[in-house]
Amino acid sequence: MIRLIRRHLKWKLFLSYLIIIVIATVVAASATGFVVPAAFERHMSLMASMMGENSEELEQDLYTNFSTAVAEALALAALVAFVSALILSLLISRQVTLPVREMMDASVHIASGHYDERVGVFGSAQGEDQDELGRLALSFNRMASALEQTEALRSELIGNVAHELRTPLSSIKGTMEGLIDGVLPADVETFGRVHREAERLQRLVQDLQELSRVEAGALELQLRPTPVSQLVETAIARLARQFEDKEVSLTTDVPLDLPLVLADESRIGQVLLNLVGNALQYTPAGGRVSIRARREGRTVLLVVQDTGIGIAPEHLPHVFERFYRVDRSRSRAGGGSGIGLTIAQHLVEAHRGQIRAASDGPGRGSTFSFTLPVA
Ligand code: ADP
Repeated sequence: MIRLIRRHLKWKLFLSYLIIIVIATVVAASATGFVVPAAFERHMSLMASMMGENSEELEQDLYTNFSTAVAEALALAALVAFVSALILSLLISRQVTLPVREMMDASVHIASGHYDERVGVFGSAQGEDQDELGRLALSFNRMASALEQTEALRSELIGNVAHELRTPLSSIKGTMEGLIDGVLPADVETFGRVHREAERLQRLVQDLQELSRVEAGALELQLRPTPVSQLVETAIARLARQFEDKEVSLTTDVPLDLPLVLADESRIGQVLLNLVGNALQYTPAGGRVSIRARREGRTVLLVVQDTGIGIAPEHLPHVFERFYRVDRSRSRAGGGSGIGLTIAQHLVEAHRGQIRAASDGPGRGSTFSFTLPVA
C-alpha cells in the first residue's frame, strides 16, 4: 500500500485530499458536539412553558432526532467529499502525469538514439500562457532539437574527416604498392609524391585540432592593444617570397594614424595569413592582392582583396562552412581542406569582430574583410 502511494501521484493526491476530509469532518463533528447541545438547551428552556408537563420527554426525543439528523448529514457530507476527492485526484493526476509520462517515454526513446522524438505541447509555442508543465515540455523539445543538431553535426564531421583522409591515404598506399611491385621507380619524384601527401595529412590533422579547439571555445586569447600595421607586416613577411615566386603583386594601404586594436597578435596573424594565403592561392600569375585598413566607428576594418578567380554568388554564403570548397578538385590540388575560413571566422568572432566575403562573381576577384575592436 505504502509502495503504491509512493509510486503513483494519483494516490498521493488522493491521500492528501483524504487527510483534509478527515480533519474537516473531525472539526465539524466536534464543533457540532459542542455548539448544538448548548443551543438546543437554550431553545428548549425558552419553549418549556409552552410544552407543559411532557416537556422533559419531548425535549429528549427532539434532541435525539436532531443529533441523529446532524450525524447523518455529517456522514453524508463526508461520503460525498470522499467520492469527489477520489474523482478529483484521478482527474488532476491524469492531467499532471500524462505529459510527464510522455516526456519519460520520449527521453527513453531519445536515449536509444531516436533524436527526432518530440512531446506534444498545447497552446502557444512561445511559452506564454503555459503552466510549468507546458514550459517543461517546450524546453524538453528545445533540448531534443539541440541534441539532434549536435548528432547531425557529429556524423557529418566524421563523414567529412573520413572523406578528407581517404584521398591522401589512398595516394600514399597506391604509390607504395607501385614501389613494392617495381612499377614505380624508387626516385626522388616518387618519394616526393609520398612526402607531399603525408604533409597534406599532417596539415589536415593540425587544422582539425585547431578547429576542435576553436569550436569548443577553448581559446585563451592574449588580448593586447596592437598596431594594425604590425599585424599586416608580420603576415606579409611570411608570404612575400611566395608572392614573388607566383608573380602576384602585393600592396598594402594601412594609414599610420589608425588607432590600436584589441587583439591577440598571433591569432589575428593566423587569420590574415589565411586570407592573404587564400588570395594568393586563388589568384593566377600577373594578378594583384591588396591589404587595406580603415577605421569604422569603434572598430578597424581590415580588407584583403584580390583580382583572382572570384566566387559565384551561390557559393558565397557557404565559404565559412567547415570543409566547404567552391571547386573541390582545384583546392584539393592546392592542398586546401576547406577549414581555414571556418577557423578564421571563429577567431574573429572570439575578438568580437565580424568577417565577410564578397565577390562580383567568377573571374572578377574576391574581397574578404573583418573588423577588430578599437583598444
Ligand atoms: P581552403 O583550405 O580550401 O582554402 P578555406 O576555408 O580557406 O579552405 O576556403 C574555403 C573555400 O573558399 C576555398 O576552397 C575556395 O573555394 C574559397 N575561397 C577562399 N578564399 C578565396 C579567394 N580569395 N578567392 C576565391 N575563392 C576563395
